[in-house]
Amino acid sequence: MSKVKKVEAFSLTIPRDKPYLGDAKKGEEANKKGYFVREGNKTVYATVDRTIIVRIETHSGVVGWGETYGLIAPEATMALINDFMSDFVEDKDPFDVSVIYEDIYNMMRFRKYSGGYYHDALAAIDIALWDICGKIAGLPISKLLGGQRRKEIPAYVSGLPEPTLEKRVQLALSWKNKGFHSFKFATPQAADNLNQEMEALRTALGDSVKIACDMHWNQTSAEAISKIAEMEPYKLWFAEAPVATEDIKGLSHIARTVKTPVAVGEEWRTVYDAQARIDADAVHIVQPEMGHVGMTQFMRIGLAAQSHNLSIIPHATIGSGIFLAASLQASSALENIKSHEYQHTIFDRNKHLITEGIEVKHGLYSISDKPGLGVEPTEYTISLLKK
Ligand code: MG
Repeated sequence: MSKVKKVEAFSLTIPRDKPYLGDAKKGEEANKKGYFVREGNKTVYATVDRTIIVRIETHSGVVGWGETYGLIAPEATMALINDFMSDFVEDKDPFDVSVIYEDIYNMMRFRKYSGGYYHDALAAIDIALWDICGKIAGLPISKLLGGQRRKEIPAYVSGLPEPTLEKRVQLALSWKNKGFHSFKFATPQAADNLNQEMEALRTALGDSVKIACDMHWNQTSAEAISKIAEMEPYKLWFAEAPVATEDIKGLSHIARTVKTPVAVGEEWRTVYDAQARIDADAVHIVQPEMGHVGMTQFMRIGLAAQSHNLSIIPHATIGSGIFLAASLQASSALENIKSHEYQHTIFDRNKHLITEGIEVKHGLYSISDKPGLGVEPTEYTISLLKK
């Protein structure tokens, strides 16, 4: 069996004309490092797209690719991989991927480094090891995860980053005309009256499309209940992230009170995060983010959701396409996947960063059938990687 020879983490920076989620508002100007805070969700963003790519090579020359978040202080995550985790992966059998994952997780677990950047680093390694396993087996990863249930997944259009309601409606309509039937708008880019936003979108798009709202964690549970109730006459698909991530009790109160399904999960790292919300009856739709959780935990979260008859609609975010490909492979193997987020402002402009294998057309993702993740960074992308 070919063992791991080398593990390396790199950063990849992709310039942007317009920041992710649309133009920064007045008072949200970037500092000299290129960071700015959006008032709508109090969260820091960067003026560039930045991600971390992990390359793992075996002694027999098989190369696997992984990826995780690199938006803020990417050197922190890279140091965890290059200075520490790499030594505990090298000389291991890549087919022991979950054992490697659990052992490294345990190494800092009781110091409570069981999430955050530590887990991001581990997620990227985990994805790269699964890629190697698929390549050695000559199979797409979904086949190693229990089976390829589907080759296509409905893609919902996420984000309508335009400054006026009229323009947001036009943008949504342009996607509907391309064959997309599900949409999500985000409160930081919406009208103050969410019912006004919902009414305009529903009137323009018609009754047959699905419309969800990402509430960006920025309400108390009482505020969220009243905002969701205002949107419900216009048939809300799901309400995402209505309260602060720590407020499980508030989330549970919302989930038990409103008619609309409540969706959360993009900030989770492990099935323990999922289980706490599932046990509290606080979630109807789980939204794991592959770039944070990695393949091993993505499946554990997905299976926990399925065992409670919950839906799974994975998150998508800033990346080169590597962790998106991983997310689609895992999604292909899970039964309760209903849809997958489609970040058109990222995927479409970053398509040239990975080899052909993922398509988004007529409202559907098509999933690669090639071994492993099915996509690789292009030569151009590899030339941009910085250690
Ligand atoms: Mg979100």
